[in-house]
Amino acid sequence: MPLPKKIKNQLAKIVGPNGLIYEPDKMMPYLHEERGLAKGMADIVLRPNNVQEVSSIVQLCAKEKIPIVPVGGCTGLVGGTLANGGVILATDRLNTIIQVDPLNNTITVESGCILANLQAAALEKECLFPLSLGAEGSCQIGGNLSTNAGGVSVLKYGNTRDLVLGLEVVLPNGDVWSELNALRKDNTGYDLKQIFVGAEGTLGIITKAVLKLFPAPKVSTTVLVALPKIDAILGLFDQTRELCGDRLTAFELISRMAIELGSTHIPGIIDPFKTPYPYYALIELTSAQKKDNLRDNIEEILAHALEKGIIIDAVFADSEAQRRELWRIREEIPAAQSREGGSIKHDISVPVSSTVEFIIEASERVLKALPGIRPCPFGHIGDGNIHYNLTQPIGMVKKDFLLQSAKINRIVHDLVVEMGGSISAEHGIGSFKREELAHYSSPAKISLIRTIKNAIDPDNIMNPGKII
Ligand SMILES: Cc1cc2nc3c(=O)[nH]c(=O)nc-3n(C[C@H](O)[C@H](O)[C@H](O)COP(=O)(O)OP(=O)(O)OC[C@H]3O[C@@H](n4cnc5c(N)ncnc54)[C@H](O)[C@@H]3O)c2cc1C
Repeated sequence: MPLPKKIKNQLAKIVGPNGLIYEPDKMMPYLHEERGLAKGMADIVLRPNNVQEVSSIVQLCAKEKIPIVPVGGCTGLVGGTLANGGVILATDRLNTIIQVDPLNNTITVESGCILANLQAAALEKECLFPLSLGAEGSCQIGGNLSTNAGGVSVLKYGNTRDLVLGLEVVLPNGDVWSELNALRKDNTGYDLKQIFVGAEGTLGIITKAVLKLFPAPKVSTTVLVALPKIDAILGLFDQTRELCGDRLTAFELISRMAIELGSTHIPGIIDPFKTPYPYYALIELTSAQKKDNLRDNIEEILAHALEKGIIIDAVFADSEAQRRELWRIREEIPAAQSREGGSIKHDISVPVSSTVEFIIEASERVLKALPGIRPCPFGHIGDGNIHYNLTQPIGMVKKDFLLQSAKINRIVHDLVVEMGGSISAEHGIGSFKREELAHYSSPAKISLIRTIKNAIDPDNIMNPGKII
């Protein structure tokens, strides 16, 4: 049902002319779906300027039972921002950095702050906000909190859930719940803020947050290591973790297929080794202690691994530019895969100790189901999080390949669950994984999710159709 003109006028009055978009072409960026798998539609996009405007919009929508879809940077990968009519509430004008407090090691921000801007504001005060991901130039902290984003530094700093101290949220009836605590210790009953982290906009709209900061690293070292076979990677990870402790910041897996796709399709990406190897580990160490000699530290581990045949070769980044080049190889994998044709993607986790077994077994099962399918696993292996992506067989029509998605997803997700893993490690559920969540969750879990949703949003106006 299109929104009645009277309601549109009332909404327009709340946000003023700068906060309103209704022209179809101007609404497009807010309807965007990162992987091009679906298209949203909405009657109006509202861009409120402060929490009072958010509250007034939600109050009016609650009264009229109009669905609201919160939209941040629109970089989510599970269709969480896909609207099906109603109002899109975009947070891009809520972008103030309110306070950086280096002594308390906290930063207070509005939820529409772009992640990279938040990182930069912290760095100006020699602090680190450690959340880091490929989309950091466009995703917003409200989106990161709502998806409990992971990224490349989870190993050392945890995921977004671990970085939040306080929140302000506009609830589905328009009330504002504000606990912008900057406290490391607060045991006053239920930890309410955590209900909204990872809720994907289904329980309210996050408008402000207090987040943890850390001392900015003074030294770092980054190395890409070539491995003779995938089995070698966990031994190397274990040794590096044991000998480097919390200086180990990232430990990523890259497959040969990923390097080949990157160097074929992405300008500027080159294989840094002369010889092809089956698997690679991208390792980064950081320290806030200037005198820490990280290079010596990791060289010693790698020399030992070389002697034992655990690794074959290694390339160090000798400058920030070279560091960026190594990370680009990792970050451009999804883009390279898209250019190769159809891909069926899985963002899964299993216990770190089972990651190698998972990759070997999953690849056997999918190849049996669809000969010629090309596994391109990569990701945060140090967190047990593999992006188990599959590229279409050479010569197969993309549409025909994608028609196999449900069958392939079932094979991969069955194995994940057999191994005690999760079908969504860091991207969330959104609309794309809703049926998978229902399929693999216990009735008790689904019932608890429904109870929480019904208690907070009884009329189901907040991002309906997502998660459940
Ligand atoms: C190149 C690339 C690399 C990526 N790498 C990673 C990675 O390493 N790790 C990872 O976890 N993810 C990754 N992602 C996925 C994505 O960037 C994250 O999910 C990110 O946290 C989404 O932020 P956003 O602002 O774009 O949110 P959006 O896409 O706008 O929204 C995501 C969800 O949050 C809800 N939402 C947004 N803002 C609010 C708010 N203020 N209040 C309530 N609900 C809200 C939306 O309704 C939606 O359900 C990547 C994406 C891309 C394109």
